[in-house]
Amino acid sequence: MRIVLVGPPGAGKGTQAAFLAKNLDIPHISTGDLFRANISQGTELGLKAKAFMDAGDLVPDEVTIGMAKDRMEQDDAVNGFLLDGFPRNVAQAEALDVVLKAEDMQLDAVLDLEVPEDEVVKRIAGRRICRNDSSHVFHVSYNAPKSEGVCDVCGGELYQRDDDSEETVRRRLEVYHTQTEPIIDYYRAQNLVVTISALGKVDEVTARAMDALKK
Ligand code: ADP
Repeated sequence: MRIVLVGPPGAGKGTQAAFLAKNLDIPHISTGDLFRANISQGTELGLKAKAFMDAGDLVPDEVTIGMAKDRMEQDDAVNGFLLDGFPRNVAQAEALDVVLKAEDMQLDAVLDLEVPEDEVVKRIAGRRICRNDSSHVFHVSYNAPKSEGVCDVCGGELYQRDDDSEETVRRRLEVYHTQTEPIIDYYRAQNLVVTISALGKVDEVTARAMDALKK
């Protein structure tokens, strides 16, 4: 299966993607994670991306599209993938279509996670992520780790992302509305969009998502 996940920052894309990818046995490809890995490794690409990310802006397409394409062309992605955070604007969606067409492939679904804006801000402000594995995500009150600052899964250090400050979150939401939401119409025209509510417990949302994808 080839799936694109969309939804505002804080919708739980990363959390859901980890579960869905496991259930569906396809790799989880997150451009945000790829950028953060590049930043922590100090690569040139990471250096280019960091200032945009810290400001809550999109990293320029010429950097992002090449990186996403390289990842999709790796061996583990031949039978499908779950894209999380890509495409994030219409130009990226068009570029993805070109990549897919060249391989005679198609998307199966675009899963749209819906969540009210005030909830998004609350979720992001309390979000803490494991340094070892970004799919280990906690929240200081909604999903608190057993021991403060320590990952329940692997014992790694929990930290707050640089772009999770309230000011940057507002900018990221604005960018989402103006640049990313238009891809939902783009994919609606291809009859690919399934919208589900991202409210409720993590496993409830996963079940809802699996149900929607079966249809
Ligand atoms: P979230 O979904 O919570 O906003 P991500 O980890 O997906 O978090 O993205 C964090 C940041 O990485 C974005 O705000 C943006 O700066 C950058 N980024 C991620 N994916 C893309 C993309 N496809 N195009 C441009 N920038 C991106």
